Amino acid sequence: MKQPIRIELPMLQPKMSVNAYLFLEPEPVLIDCGMNTAETFELLKAELQKHGKSLADLAHVYITHAHIDHMGMAGRLAQETEAIIWVNPYTLPWTKDLAVQWQKRANIIESVLIKETPPDWENPMLSNMQSFFQQALACWSAVPSDKLKVYEVGEVLPFGGGEWEVLYVPGHSNTQTCFYERARKWLFSADMLLPLTPTPAIEMKVDAPDEREISIVRLLESFERMKRLEIEMVFPGHGEPFDNHRQLIDVQLSRIQLRKAECLTVIQKGKSSFFDIFQQIYPRAFNIFTLSMLKGYLDLLEIEESIQIDNTKGYRRYLAN
Ligand SMILES: [Zn+2]
Repeated sequence: MKQPIRIELPMLQPKMSVNAYLFLEPEPVLIDCGMNTAETFELLKAELQKHGKSLADLAHVYITHAHIDHMGMAGRLAQETEAIIWVNPYTLPWTKDLAVQWQKRANIIESVLIKETPPDWENPMLSNMQSFFQQALACWSAVPSDKLKVYEVGEVLPFGGGEWEVLYVPGHSNTQTCFYERARKWLFSADMLLPLTPTPAIEMKVDAPDEREISIVRLLESFERMKRLEIEMVFPGHGEPFDNHRQLIDVQLSRIQLRKAECLTVIQKGKSSFFDIFQQIYPRAFNIFTLSMLKGYLDLLEIEESIQIDNTKGYRRYLAN
């Protein structure tokens, strides 16, 4: 079995990229497919052409999770090729009523931000939210149901000459699955194992769309599970393939503990609002990833009861115990 061909594709965030992976044998398949943009479409087309194939030869596309950079292009590929799009049950709603799902996710993020924002402060993040979400939705395409198939957790998917077991790995996203080839010990890790620590996305629970998932807890659980897995090569959703997954997980776990401790110190020094803590932890790095990361650290501190939450001023204030 040959290693998959890594195709680096653009993201909404400049200077960042997402990986799609291509197997040519026994038939062309993709693992994830980037966003629905002209640039991504041309890059996928060019990569197939480079190997004497065309997009029309694409037989299957396997999607790891319901994030725009991994599946935005799926609907367009379904429309313009004969390819079957495969998703897990958690991602299925995102192939259909996309705008509805997207709005639910936006509502959860918005409600988190509102709770963190003092009533007298016009939070720039909140005012930019809707335009950001509209911009993102424009790079996502719904998948026609006749081209769609659902794979189950635990199922074995045959592609690329291997037998890929589907593992459910919530944390970065609770829609996320990895594909594991037991014989070769290869893993398509999606955003579970990355060269940089995956962010615990602010998202709704899969079974209760009005409630927020405490993603950092899921992420830590999934890390422990991944550590037990024998892996020789990781093909991550972003960045270059790597082989030292246990070492990488340990580094990322200790970094999470370190950053959590830094947050506690900031709170002990008297910073109490989310955005004041944010300024200390991530000066000049205001984006959805750092936002999710900080929420995760604060979730951990709250769960461990190192801090308490005071809501008496109309927003969440973090106080040291
Ligand atoms: Zn993702």
